[in-house]
Amino acid sequence: MQAERENKIYCANCIHCKLIPAPAGAGRYYLRVRCDAGKWRKKLGEEKIYKYCTVASRSIDSCDCYEDMGDGPEFLRDLRSSLPAVDELYDAPQPLSR
Ligand code: SF4
Repeated sequence: MQAERENKIYCANCIHCKLIPAPAGAGRYYLRVRCDAGKWRKKLGEEKIYKYCTVASRSIDSCDCYEDMGDGPEFLRDLRSSLPAVDELYDAPQPLSR
């Protein structure tokens, strides 16, 4: 059982797992993650995106597009400790004035 768990693929450690902003109006945004290899799909084929705060729990048993970022287990551990606990709203950066 433990060996099975260790062999799991964590999407957060894959080069195709991308962080994207999702506009929330008034210049604010949420953070979302998507698979740019197109592997995250709803039943009807529409792309599925997830809240950034859940990215560390995205894992699958196998994926033919997985490309390891080579960051090792420390990366996931650090990611888990730095992720927001809830879906946070961010303010867009203000343009620099000259
Ligand atoms: S390519 Fe596979 S392993 Fe990589 S993010 Fe997409 S589903 Fe996850």
